[in-house]
Amino acid sequence: MTKHISILGAGIMGLSCAYSLQRQNENHRISLYDPAALAAKNASWMAGGMLAPYSEIEHMDMAWVEAGLHGIEIWKAAPLDCGFHQNGSLFIAHPEDRHALERFAAFLPDNMASAQISPSMVEPALPDKFKSGLFLPPEAHIEPRRAIAALIDAVKNDITIHQQAATPEQLDADIIIDCRGMSGDETLRGVKGEIAIVRNPEFSLSRPLRLMHPRYPLYIIPRPDHVFMIGATIIESDEGNHVSLRSSMELMSALYSLHPSFGEAEILELSTGIRPSYPDNLPRIKVQKNVISANGLFRHGFLLGPVMAEAITDYIHGQTNTYWNLLTHGQATNKTDNQRAA
Ligand SMILES: Cc1cc2nc3c(=O)[nH]c(=O)nc-3n(C[C@H](O)[C@H](O)[C@H](O)COP(=O)(O)OP(=O)(O)OC[C@H]3O[C@@H](n4cnc5c(N)ncnc54)[C@H](O)[C@@H]3O)c2cc1C
Repeated sequence: MTKHISILGAGIMGLSCAYSLQRQNENHRISLYDPAALAAKNASWMAGGMLAPYSEIEHMDMAWVEAGLHGIEIWKAAPLDCGFHQNGSLFIAHPEDRHALERFAAFLPDNMASAQISPSMVEPALPDKFKSGLFLPPEAHIEPRRAIAALIDAVKNDITIHQQAATPEQLDADIIIDCRGMSGDETLRGVKGEIAIVRNPEFSLSRPLRLMHPRYPLYIIPRPDHVFMIGATIIESDEGNHVSLRSSMELMSALYSLHPSFGEAEILELSTGIRPSYPDNLPRIKVQKNVISANGLFRHGFLLGPVMAEAITDYIHGQTNTYWNLLTHGQATNKTDNQRAA
């Protein structure tokens, strides 16, 4: 049945919901609210775009890793110009820090047991000093800003975009999907992430690289034209839209320790984003009457946002979804709830 659906927030969560609903061809009347002009410079705009469930295995159990693998499949199947590549992630460490690699390897499931490799076999530009690494082939990455532009482009003719803030109480719609990020739920906390974007024509990478460093862990994600995104700090704070001198020095010195050619790299951007996070750092779908909230995506908005959007779409259409119980943390799981919303 055709419904009027209002979505609050045009980050990756809100846009994924709009896209998922539109793809069902149910002729819903969809309104999207965000006070910022699109594309909004929100947490999603600052993201690295790693689709890396095994890399996050220290922070989430296998059920979430499997949901993340499904997220990769959703991006892979979507006809969007989002810079999708599925060619794995590489973990390396300086020889003196190799215990960090060994510690991380202990978390990996048996089917990733052959992950140990010589890093320069996978990424030839890496110096020989990196003797051991871990390679996780199923992982993927996209370009978040390109993906956001592609999502906006895909939905803009079928939905009404309101450049204004709204709350669920103000709106009269059959269903309201609340994806307001940090503004969406007072139980959320902010986790600040600072990034740098640099250009270095002397260096090449084909896949995200994580440098395991005891004090300054770093990831570096290749973008076209020898541009690299470097990230990201993890600071318990929802304040400040500037990158601190200390953080920029830590990011840059870890980068320089990776390859000396970064000494001459051009700095294109230094930015921050605030990750909306629940206390357990896991996202949640909550349902209260006609309001569905999807929030707390922490470090996993691009990995799990599309999985959440698909689950919400199924819920609205009264269909069961494999990940519903996981994503709601066991709330609103029974068929009666599904049917009530349908
Ligand atoms: C530095 C950094 C790197 C990251 N890297 C990755 C990564 O590699 N892979 C990954 O999967 N995730 C990554 N993340 C996490 C990911 O970016 C977040 O989980 C995700 O962006 C959260 O998306 P969101 O849509 O919930 O929130 P947001 O992107 O913050 O969007 C919320 C939107 O709601 C709008 N809004 C606020 N109030 C209202 C209102 N009253 N009415 C309407 N709209 C409102 C805001 O303007 C905003 O546009 C990273 C995050 C950071 C900061």
